[in-house]
Amino acid sequence: MADIQALKERFISLYGADSAFPLRVFHAPGRVNLIGEHTDYNGGYVFPAALTFGTTMLVRERSDGQVGLASTNFPLRKQISISSVAFDTEDGWTNYPKGIIRELQLRGVSVPGCDILYSGAIPNGSGLSSSASIEVVTAFALLTLAGQTPDKIEVALLSQKAENEFMGVQCGIMDQFAVAMGKKEHAILLMCDTLEYKHVPFRSGEYRLVIGNTNKQRGLVDSKYNERRAQCEQAVSDLRAKFPELRLLGQLTRDQFNGAKHAIADDTVRRRAQHVVEEIDRVLQSMKVLEQGDLAAFGQLMNGSHDSLRDLYEVTGVELDTMVDAARRVPGVLGSRMTGAGFGGCTVSLVHRDAVERFIDEVGRVYRAKTGLTADFYVCDIGDGVQELTTA
Ligand code: ADP
Ligand code: MG
Repeated sequence: MADIQALKERFISLYGADSAFPLRVFHAPGRVNLIGEHTDYNGGYVFPAALTFGTTMLVRERSDGQVGLASTNFPLRKQISISSVAFDTEDGWTNYPKGIIRELQLRGVSVPGCDILYSGAIPNGSGLSSSASIEVVTAFALLTLAGQTPDKIEVALLSQKAENEFMGVQCGIMDQFAVAMGKKEHAILLMCDTLEYKHVPFRSGEYRLVIGNTNKQRGLVDSKYNERRAQCEQAVSDLRAKFPELRLLGQLTRDQFNGAKHAIADDTVRRRAQHVVEEIDRVLQSMKVLEQGDLAAFGQLMNGSHDSLRDLYEVTGVELDTMVDAARRVPGVLGSRMTGAGFGGCTVSLVHRDAVERFIDEVGRVYRAKTGLTADFYVCDIGDGVQELTTA
């Protein structure tokens, strides 16, 4: 968590101490998907969790209809008028809060003028969703300033809409949902198209989540992602010979799929579908074993997920595989897998707290030796979703 007192001093030095309005502090976390990869667009579950670090937002109303935007993470500052909020490439990061203001206005919320200072502890662009974090904290804070008690699911939905429409990024709902609805020591079982969800206890005890960033540039992600989606659609179309009503792979149990998979003509397409059906099953098993407090069993499911993403879905690559292999060799590691779309990005591992130092040292060394890249590591616990921290 950021040093709030230091941030308040920074805020005052930027915007002055003299105001009739209180300075309020809000926070939204980053997130990690623990298991359930490439399931969302197949009507299956994902299993994200909010982290204990995220984006802190200090905000103070002002009465002249202006909005001051500053961040400790970027030098760019802006002052805009609340009555003319528009996207501009030159405005860099400030487009994120502008997108939220615009979306709130489109929904009829009367957003007051205000001064804002953000401070983010999430590395940008590495898959821990700093963008969802800044969006959700902004939406939640501005709704609160407008006198509302924000509904967190609405906050997630409007933040996603702003990212889709104002920023032009076609993301799903998982990130914003996890960041808004996270709960300390719980993962979230979430069905992205219906928003059916459940908080599942994640009693990590003596274990920590360690996220490893491969720092690999992800060049091919979009085209490969589209190819995988098309292969899943092909699998559904072939399987309709057996299940005429089938719309999404997520509608099939593992047994139903195994009984019908020969209807899929292409071998590669069949392997893609096998991953999806088994991954959804692994998510449901994860919920069960975690409800029983069996972290070791969850670690095994994490391993199974990665192996399937490597062998059946083929979205890992040498960097992620190297990092995961090295992680599993460290004593005290219950499981390790890639997280996110793949081809780079991050891994997540469940590591005994006494082994964390050795983990970072050994995995970092092996990874550098084999890939020539330097990894970053973040040791995390599962934290709460968006909230107001204090009033001052
Ligand atoms: P990711 O969501 O994976 O971290 P994105 O590229 O989607 O990566 O979002 C990162 C962008 O979000 C940053 O480049 C910046 O524009 C904006 N952003 C995130 N956190 C902050 C922050 N604390 N201050 C200012 N801008 C931020
Ligand atoms: Mg993002």
